[in-house]
Amino acid sequence: MRIGVLAVQGAFAEHIAAVERSGAEAFEIRQPRDIDGHFDGLILPGGESTVMKKLLHELGLLEPLKKRIESGLPVLGTCAGMILLAKDIDGGEAPCFGTMDITVKRNAYGRQLGSFVCEEIFAGKDIAMRFIRAPYVSEAGERVEVLAVHDGKTVAVRQGNQLAAAFHPELTDDSTVYEMFFGMIAKSLAA
Ligand code: GLN
Repeated sequence: MRIGVLAVQGAFAEHIAAVERSGAEAFEIRQPRDIDGHFDGLILPGGESTVMKKLLHELGLLEPLKKRIESGLPVLGTCAGMILLAKDIDGGEAPCFGTMDITVKRNAYGRQLGSFVCEEIFAGKDIAMRFIRAPYVSEAGERVEVLAVHDGKTVAVRQGNQLAAAFHPELTDDSTVYEMFFGMIAKSLAA
């Protein structure tokens, strides 16, 4: 299993380490030629979504990656990565990939609660979740499955081969989110 991690900004190194810990292969995506070869999944890390969006445009990565996602490449977006996938951003900011039928609210927890760790149920299992100036999902379309809720707000969702979390699974020891993502990849490879 070979997984490309968008590495233009943000917490990509932590995702690469987490993927490698699980025994899969990870590589950095920094420019269009990095995605010439074969890969089975894509991770969009946390960071600053406005900066990533700008760099994706400038580097010529936005369209080719969007095409891959639209044609079914399994993708995991965390925090800013979730914002990149969202079809709508609360406040009217232009979307990036816009492939997931969700509306997100950025920096949704205010200054006081900007960063925190909590325990919540993700797809039926209690896991630690670390939030850093996180978004939440304020609206989700019919085809979107809600996987986790914190404080009444949706914080993890899945739609087809797209998985998104408002928290940072790469910054905790729990591998539940990755296991779900690898399961989605295995299923897409078998199909
Ligand atoms: N606040 C960031 C944004 O809006 C997301 C924060 C993160 O990825 N940790 O893009």
